[in-house]
Amino acid sequence: MQADLTKARGGQIPAPDRRTTDPEDARPWESLGPRQIDLEEWRRFETSVGEILTAFGLDLATPGTAATPQRFLKALYDATAGYEGDPQLLTAFPTECRGGPDCRISQIVEGPISFYALCEHHALPFHGVAYVGYVAHEQIIGISKLTRLVRLFARRFTVQERLGQQIADTLVDLLQPHGVAVRLEAEHLCTQMRGVREEQSKTVTTFWRGTFDDEAEMRREFLSEAGIHG
Ligand SMILES: [Zn+2]
Ligand SMILES: [Zn+2]
Repeated sequence: MQADLTKARGGQIPAPDRRTTDPEDARPWESLGPRQIDLEEWRRFETSVGEILTAFGLDLATPGTAATPQRFLKALYDATAGYEGDPQLLTAFPTECRGGPDCRISQIVEGPISFYALCEHHALPFHGVAYVGYVAHEQIIGISKLTRLVRLFARRFTVQERLGQQIADTLVDLLQPHGVAVRLEAEHLCTQMRGVREEQSKTVTTFWRGTFDDEAEMRREFLSEAGIHG
């Protein structure tokens, strides 16, 4: 029955993908650093972006637009800073698991946490809010770190599905909690700006791990804490 322990009531969730304790195999957000783009590459990118913007109709020969290719690239670079990791995410604090029902039932829910991501299919933004909940075991994390966690994965080229999975699985990896719940509500500009889909339409995705996966009551409590009444 060993393999079924994870499904046991109140069981901890095994961390995903933790294959080894080798220090070289650091967690992804620790080992990442600044991206290396040299000046020559920046100049080349500016030229390319300038060509595209001009061809599409932008007049770059005005005081307001002369530096637009440069600014566009800088904004895109900043919006994808999640690839550089976030060492400050690390701090988890020990707490006391009271075991039994108490330990499982008390969930912490944080949100709405606003996020801005870039759809990897169109490189255009999708943005919205995240609600993150978890049931701690022996580790807790500062509330502000949940915001960092969301932004670490949002500031990349991604899709909503993967974003939610990464947030949930990383929280599992960080805290080995009894359960994790993540809900994302987002508007996708790649469809809205082009009139493919109704404006204002929201895409909602929810991810459950551990006790949330097992117990409908936990899911209801999370949704109600997040202000969602279904
Ligand atoms: Zn898209
Ligand atoms: Zn516990």
